[in-house]
Amino acid sequence: MPFSEIIAQDRALAPLRSALRRGTLHHAYLFGGPAGTGKARVARLVAQAANCEGGEAGPGGLPDDACGRCGPCRKIERGLHPDVLVLQEERVMAKAGRWEPRGGRAPSKDIVVDQVRDLVDHRLALKRFEGRRRFVIVDPADAMNPQAQNALLKTLEEPPEDTTLVLVASSPDRLLPTIRSRCLRVPFAPVPAELVEERLRAEGRGAEEARLAAALAGGSLGRALALDPEALAALRDSVLAAVALDPGDAGAWLAFAKAHGEDRAQATELCELLALWLRDVLAARAGGARLALAELAPATRRAAAAPAPAEVVRRRREVQRTAAALRQNGSPVLALERLLIGWFHGRA
Ligand SMILES: [Zn+2]
Repeated sequence: MPFSEIIAQDRALAPLRSALRRGTLHHAYLFGGPAGTGKARVARLVAQAANCEGGEAGPGGLPDDACGRCGPCRKIERGLHPDVLVLQEERVMAKAGRWEPRGGRAPSKDIVVDQVRDLVDHRLALKRFEGRRRFVIVDPADAMNPQAQNALLKTLEEPPEDTTLVLVASSPDRLLPTIRSRCLRVPFAPVPAELVEERLRAEGRGAEEARLAAALAGGSLGRALALDPEALAALRDSVLAAVALDPGDAGAWLAFAKAHGEDRAQATELCELLALWLRDVLAARAGGARLALAELAPATRRAAAAPAPAEVVRRRREVQRTAAALRQNGSPVLALERLLIGWFHGRA
C-alpha cells in the first residue's frame, strides 16, 4: 500500500493514519523536517487516502491508506483532482501555466499574497466538487512571504468545512509564530543512512555508490536518489578543485565559494565528501588502509605524502564545522568562504 513506500517516518504516519481511520483529520497540519524525507509525498497520500474509493476500510469505516488505483487516487497523483489544491512558489506555478502574476511583473520565487488571496477568496469560497474532503497543500510553506502568511491566518483559524490545510516546510521556523501555533505539528525525521542505502540498493544502485550517496545525503532520501553516478563524479571533481586551490590566490577561492555555494544541499554534500576524503588522506598516511573514495586514490596518496597530519586533522575539523553550519541556516557562499579562509589563514 502507498504509505509503505515512506521509510522511517512512523512517528509522523501513526497519528495521521489513525485520524484517517476515525475520520478525525485536523483542519491544519504543519509537516516539518529536513528536505527529502517524504513530507510532500505524505501530504498527497493523506489526500488520496481521505478520498480513496478502493482502499480497505478501517474500524471507523474509513480507509487509512490509499489504493493508488481508483479514480480519485489517480487524479490526485496526476494533480488533476479539483478538491486537492496545491500552492507553490509563484515562478513554479507560472512556469506550469497554473498562475499568472498580477500587473505583468516577473514571477517571484516566493509564494505571494495574490496567490493566497486567490485561494481564499475564490477557490475556497466554492463548495467541494467531488471529493469527500478538500485539501490545500502549501509546498513549500516556508516560501510564503510574511504578507502571504498573514493572508492565510484567517483561513487557518476558521477553515471551510471538510477542508484540511497541509503546510509542508523544511524550515518551519521561517513561518510566523501565529501560523505555527494554528497548525498541528507533524515532525519528519532524517532517514537513517543505512535505510537510505538499503533503498538505493533496492533501486539497483551498486554497493559502493549506494553507501557513498547515503553518507553524503545527510538523512534526505530525496538528495540520495538525486546523487546518481554523474552527480557523484561532479562532486569528486569539486573536491579535487577545492584541494588544488592556491592559498595565495584569494580571487580564485572566492570564485570557488561563489560557484559552489549557490545550492545549499550541494555545498553541504561537497563538505561531507571533503571530510571523507581528508579521512582517507589520514588513513593512507597511516599505512594504506582501504580508502572510502577509491576513485580519488592518486590524489589521496599525493596529499598523504605532503602536509603534516595535524594540518589534515585541522582542515577536516573545519570542513565538518562548515557542513554542520550549512545544515542549519545562513548563506552557503559565506560558509564556504569562511571555510577556505580557515584553511588558508587560520580561523579568526
Ligand atoms: Zn484509491
